[in-house]
Amino acid sequence: MTEFGSRQPSAWGIDVPGVAMSLPAGTNPIALTFDCCGGPGGDSLDEALVSALRDTGTAATFFLAGRWVQANPAFTEQLAADPLFEIANHGTVHQPLSVSGASAYGIAGTSDAGAVYDEIMGAQELIEEFTGTRPAYFRSGTAHLDDVAAEITRSLGLLVVNFNRNGDDGGTLDAAAVTDRLVGMEAGDILLAHSNRPSSGTAAGVAAALPILRERGMSFARLSEVLPAESEQD
Ligand SMILES: [Zn+2]
Repeated sequence: MTEFGSRQPSAWGIDVPGVAMSLPAGTNPIALTFDCCGGPGGDSLDEALVSALRDTGTAATFFLAGRWVQANPAFTEQLAADPLFEIANHGTVHQPLSVSGASAYGIAGTSDAGAVYDEIMGAQELIEEFTGTRPAYFRSGTAHLDDVAAEITRSLGLLVVNFNRNGDDGGTLDAAAVTDRLVGMEAGDILLAHSNRPSSGTAAGVAAALPILRERGMSFARLSEVLPAESEQD
């Protein structure tokens, strides 16, 4: 990481250079992505949400934090074994990805380029250990990062994927509000919602939205089906 050690970031947030916010123009499916963040209050799997996806044959991508994987090894293996689903990397301890210690929502980010490397690769190695597969996509804890951290992620062979549709505001919305967020999705959109909060409205809200989206002609894809991991983002 020495080549990044002296770099000063010029952008900070969810939508910075190098991050995919939606699928490539002309893509017909939408991508449902669900974060398993881990930590206090976030260490569960929303099994009702997973069942709603399975029962309807709905493809999705799960971003798993390393700390969540360590708390849920059996669920990690089950999600990875299901061909409907793809596993992606949500950071090792779920930190904003910063080369200068920037924070988001009061959560301290990584302190430097070496800590960025550790935050990415710790989860990468844990996920490979439990699933046998190295993820191709990364989303930081809180989805915040700087442009240098995005470059570091690319140099490690992962594409940073955020979202243009926020489905559940961190798993805090009731089911009707979640459904409202989903039903208007358009071709090529990427949804963020949370699969680690079984007491939230996310599962019921997603379950209600899926038939409405299908009625509108929408289809669903895992990220690797529709988003080339080697593509350049701007
Ligand atoms: Zn998260």
